[in-house]
Amino acid sequence: MQSGSINVQTENIFPIIKKFLYSDHEIFLRELVSNAVDASQKVKTLKHVGELKTDPSKLKVEVLLDKDAGTLTVRDNGIGMTAEEVDKYINQIAFSGAEEFVNKYKDSDAKNAIIGHFGLGFYSAFMVAAKVEIITRSQKPNSTAVRWECDGSPNYTMEETSKKAKGTDIVLHIAEDSKEFLEEERISGILNKYCKFMPVPVIFGTRTEQYDDPSGEKDEDGNVNQLSREVPAQVNNPEPAWTKAPVDLKDEDYEEFYRELYPMNFEDPLFHIHLNVDYPFNLTGILFFPKLKQNMELQRNKIHLYSNQVFITDNVENIVPDFLTLLHGVIDSPDIPLNVSRSYLQEDSNVKKISSHISKKVADKLKSMFNNEREDFESKWDSLKVFIEYGMLTDEKFFDRSLKFLLFKDTEGRYETLEELKASIGETQKDKNDKIVVLYTSDAEGQHDRIRKARERGYKVLQLEGPLVSHLTSRLEQHDSELQFKRVDADTLEKLIEKDEELPSLLSKEQEEKLQPVIEEIVGKEKYDVSFAPMSQDEQPMVITQSEFMRRMKEQQAVGGGGFTMFGEMPEKYNLVVNSNHPLVERVADKSEDDQKAMVKQLADLARLNNGLLKGEELSKFVERSVEMLSSK
Ligand code: ADP
Repeated sequence: MQSGSINVQTENIFPIIKKFLYSDHEIFLRELVSNAVDASQKVKTLKHVGELKTDPSKLKVEVLLDKDAGTLTVRDNGIGMTAEEVDKYINQIAFSGAEEFVNKYKDSDAKNAIIGHFGLGFYSAFMVAAKVEIITRSQKPNSTAVRWECDGSPNYTMEETSKKAKGTDIVLHIAEDSKEFLEEERISGILNKYCKFMPVPVIFGTRTEQYDDPSGEKDEDGNVNQLSREVPAQVNNPEPAWTKAPVDLKDEDYEEFYRELYPMNFEDPLFHIHLNVDYPFNLTGILFFPKLKQNMELQRNKIHLYSNQVFITDNVENIVPDFLTLLHGVIDSPDIPLNVSRSYLQEDSNVKKISSHISKKVADKLKSMFNNEREDFESKWDSLKVFIEYGMLTDEKFFDRSLKFLLFKDTEGRYETLEELKASIGETQKDKNDKIVVLYTSDAEGQHDRIRKARERGYKVLQLEGPLVSHLTSRLEQHDSELQFKRVDADTLEKLIEKDEELPSLLSKEQEEKLQPVIEEIVGKEKYDVSFAPMSQDEQPMVITQSEFMRRMKEQQAVGGGGFTMFGEMPEKYNLVVNSNHPLVERVADKSEDDQKAMVKQLADLARLNNGLLKGEELSKFVERSVEMLSSK
């Protein structure tokens, strides 16, 4: 028997492994199954180059639980190890056999099929095991089997043993504090998470299978009787959709894969993108566009990151652009470094390339949908727009690409691109400064009166809703200085799209000066800036507006990101503009002060009502007062 000291610098590395290697102890199983899968892939490679005759279709990894013995075993019929190899690959911790293998066969396809580059791999077993045995027999001719054992101290023993089958058993004697890993449910949960799409069959436990009664006996309907038996259960699909060529897949296959990925998600995705790059980095994957919900946070962490079909994480922050984390699906790339810290990831040149590649692919897909199936694209727009807007605001290149298919929906339900919009309103909505004023509403019901008035003038009103609108409009104005976005209540109709014409006023300067303080007292100076302006006679006597600039500042502050903290907590402030060209206002000016007050109160409340600003007690008092007024007639 050979015994010795595992070749590591530290006196005892295991406590360190146990504590710091992975915060998630469950990962040991991913590492061991990955090693077993690697060992199987090596057999395939050697068979391919003619060095082995083993039948690759028989390759499999078995996970065996023995509760009574307190062991968990990962068994493979892969390449196995000779005593020298155990010495080299296991006893000299830092030496990665995978790396050596890849170097040797780097020109064959094997390179990408080898998973083992995560780190300490095998030694992560000591996170959960008090003792680990390796019983292995190499595929090499005339090899004898080896049994290696280590109890977590740096001392191991190694001896010859007998093992019929070629391949490796890794036997974990589960530690007292890790008994959870002797529970079938726990193990199947871990396998389902990390091994679901590994490229070699992974077997755990059994499932019930129906089969024809061999005696051929039939039931009354003439069907052969069904019997049931327990058969080994395969936990993985070794050929997930993303590893196949897009030409071999139908829409149904993608949908089926979506359900395989998210069994709990019942809604079908809007569409998918199949990623397939092999230069300058390796990346495959399928991304799905979900129907976005209002609460974007709930959507995140749905992209699963894989490395050669081994699940790594569902937190792809810093790996894909932030807005893309709203997508679902799988990205598989062996070129994403997995051992570095997340903040470092962003700086990695491969990650940068991957990230911008995905972003471009997504934009390309949207563009081709827009070009080829515009009607369908429009029908999906409402579900897509938050995603696209978010992308445009956070990714410069995506902004430029999206301008071609960014759609604006007007209050009639028609969709136009920015270019089409400019062409259609360029004449009517150009103001005296040559700006094209784009009118929009964020609430078609609440701003009904404003919309109607604007429409009566032949203006187009867009429906721009959602949390990103004020950021997006600012960004679009910055991009195209000809454009100016204004919400329909940003100003009086005369000023929204300012032309040169001046309307007459029915009030004299003195009348206005006398009326102003009366109104201010009633509506409150701190909430409303009162002013007079001649408007069209079909406009209301009083109109409430809110400066586009101030409102946007406030909204952007609320959503965050915009650096407007200098405004502090901005109070809600409105303009109350009195229509000095309105006959009713002229009558008010002529009344005694008491009558004036009563009329002003009623008119101001009507204006507030029209803007959805009259609520609670003030609203009920308004209703009461109106009833009284009618009763006195
Ligand atoms: P890595 O997988 O990163 O190389 P590990 O510590 O997990 O690091 O494994 C070290 C080496 O031990 C592997 O590269 C491989 O050569 C060998 N090895 C581990 N598990 C097995 C196995 N089940 N069958 C054959 N060889 C194995």
